[in-house]
Amino acid sequence: MSLANRILKVGASVTLAITAKAKKMRKDGIDVVSFGAGEPDFDTPKNIKDAANKAIGEGFTKYTPAGGIPELKEAICQKFKKDNKLEYNPSQIVVSCGAKHSIYNAIQVLCQKGDEVIIPSPYWVSYPEMVKLAEATPVTVNTKRENGFRMTKDELKKAITKKTKLLILNSPSNPTGAVYDKNELFVISELAVDKRIYVLSDEIYEKILYDGTNHASIASFNKKIYDLTLVANGVSKTYSMTGWRIGYLAGPQEVIAAINNLQSHSTSNPVSISQKAALEAILGSQDFISNMVGEFTKRRDYMIQRLSGIKGFSPFKPIGAFYVFCEISKTGLGSVELANRLLDEAKVAVVPGAGFGWDNYIRLSFATGMETIEKGMNRLEEWTKQ
Ligand SMILES: *Cc1c(COP(=O)(O)O)cnc(C)c1O
Repeated sequence: MSLANRILKVGASVTLAITAKAKKMRKDGIDVVSFGAGEPDFDTPKNIKDAANKAIGEGFTKYTPAGGIPELKEAICQKFKKDNKLEYNPSQIVVSCGAKHSIYNAIQVLCQKGDEVIIPSPYWVSYPEMVKLAEATPVTVNTKRENGFRMTKDELKKAITKKTKLLILNSPSNPTGAVYDKNELFVISELAVDKRIYVLSDEIYEKILYDGTNHASIASFNKKIYDLTLVANGVSKTYSMTGWRIGYLAGPQEVIAAINNLQSHSTSNPVSISQKAALEAILGSQDFISNMVGEFTKRRDYMIQRLSGIKGFSPFKPIGAFYVFCEISKTGLGSVELANRLLDEAKVAVVPGAGFGWDNYIRLSFATGMETIEKGMNRLEEWTKQ
């Protein structure tokens, strides 16, 4: 077999390896507590499912324009205006098969061999691999826990070279739950404008925030940064719609047109039925979100409190998303070994930090019921005592 170099450079996901092992154990009848979930545990709201059923009933089951139906693009424009004070017209929007697909497309049309892409670390597992798939070079920038895992201006400055094409930002962050404030983003935006670097801002967790934290979009400061920014977002996390596969991207018309072109030759349109469901999600009642975030808040507080009491563990308190990034240096084990041992011996599944670039951390999701969290925390506590 001779595969293309492009794909050979892309690593297999450590995240998936652990998840697969946990699944197999479950199948074998072992009671595994999983903190691996990368998706909300709530059902998709009824009004959204009804909209999808209606679409099926009405026969809305055929090809749509490759970049999404006009009314969904309109609704997305309204959302950007209302939530982010960002003015876009529908020709600046492309709807894709999940935000992951949106991000992949953006990197494909912007980056090529010789380009460098700056990625603050810890990072979402897929960013560096997507950059490699575009034959560009990922340049990771280690952030510091004492800075709340937020990249500083100086850290960014040091990473910029003549080859820098793109900066990927993810606020709120997966895996740390860090959220940049407006001033920090403004400083970054000035640097990006000065050096003419594009910014891909992954805002998929924008509505999942705690402690009264506000979300800011880097595109919103002025025309200069707006013209360099691509905002990625979607309905997966906000409306518990991970399986529906609808994400979207907003940005300069030229870039969006190129993505439309790419999409028209690859996936074609995102699922027609899901587009109608996303339309309802964006335009319909938003009450679901505050209920979900209220639940997440209780779970986060409980998990932080319990993890803080476990020997060798040092959790970082997230102010966004639904993960706890927890330092494990004092256990003396690397993240992959610890995750494997926790799974084998304590029957608890966690995600090794190595996948996010930090081998002395693990990630625990609290997108799972309170009872499960309690049971899992008891097991972790017992295990560390032995
Ligand atoms: C979940 C996630 C996405 C992608 O979500 P989709 O399901 O593809 O819409 C993108 N970025 C981050 C950081 C995520 O955690």
